[in-house]
Amino acid sequence: MQYLEMRAADDMHLHLRQGAQLVAYARDAARSFARGLVMPNTLPPLASPESVRAYGRQIEEAAPGFTPLLTFKILPHMDAGLVRSLKEAGAVAGKLYPEGVTTHAEDGVRDVEGLFPVFEAMAEEGLVLCIHAESPGAPVLEREAAFHETFLRIHHAVPSLRIVFEHVSDARTVALIRTLPPDKVAGTITLHHLLFTLDDLLGGRLNPHLFCKPVVKTSADRDALREAAFSGDPHFFFGSDSAPHPREKKEREGAAGCYTAPYALEALASLFEAHGVLGVLEGFVSERGARFYGLLLNEERVVLRKEEWVVPAEYHGVVPACAGMRLGWRVVEKGR
Ligand SMILES: [Zn+2]
Repeated sequence: MQYLEMRAADDMHLHLRQGAQLVAYARDAARSFARGLVMPNTLPPLASPESVRAYGRQIEEAAPGFTPLLTFKILPHMDAGLVRSLKEAGAVAGKLYPEGVTTHAEDGVRDVEGLFPVFEAMAEEGLVLCIHAESPGAPVLEREAAFHETFLRIHHAVPSLRIVFEHVSDARTVALIRTLPPDKVAGTITLHHLLFTLDDLLGGRLNPHLFCKPVVKTSADRDALREAAFSGDPHFFFGSDSAPHPREKKEREGAAGCYTAPYALEALASLFEAHGVLGVLEGFVSERGARFYGLLLNEERVVLRKEEWVVPAEYHGVVPACAGMRLGWRVVEKGR
């Protein structure tokens, strides 16, 4: 038997939803990950200290041994005092959604300049700004690149603020991030953007379970993301953007979001091994994200065993993006 043991992993972009479903989703993530940066786009959004605290408690109760890294949603009316109290409530980051860009973003932000005082307060408090960096009005394949100018405006207006360009999907964004200081600007990369392209999504039969925002793009984009993840560049680390929707929501309503948390680490190990870079996996999933956020690295370990298995067709009513995919590694132990 062949084993891979490494520092326990962090998922630096994760949706656990709310209500009854949260328990199952949190446990799915906790199987492989020690911590997860949990997104605030619940209904209502997490935008008050009370709601952030309560959400953290719910996750800890649902999945003992899993540490939620809490976030709040940046809303147009926020002021510096609220930012301070969100930090005191345990938040490590604030999430910015341009208006209408993704699930529950109808209340998102239109006037970025109007938020500069909030960003300054976040920088003072040592909070990280996470951005769903797409311009909703641009053509779908250009939305991410169309946001570059706004992204740079924020970075130049508040250069001391740490900013994460979430779920990078476009080779042009990889190139942009590489030009910026790695202690201030980083990008998360998902499993599905490392695995899939538009041809997987809609080249044959439409596969709604691969539909997400930003959409998966060309093989050149995917290759640039792989190169960024495999290179050990400190600008890039793992954030799954695992975003479960019940089967009907995906298949009838076309909701955006890929479910990957239950098997993401195993799929990453399989991908990295196939490319001969298994040795850089630990940096990508367990070190670079924590370092960028200024968090201690996980002390605990995770052990994977070399073993073939197939991603199931469904997890509690949700079809995983990788349903039916054969993987080469299995998590057998998390802890110690
Ligand atoms: Zn997300």
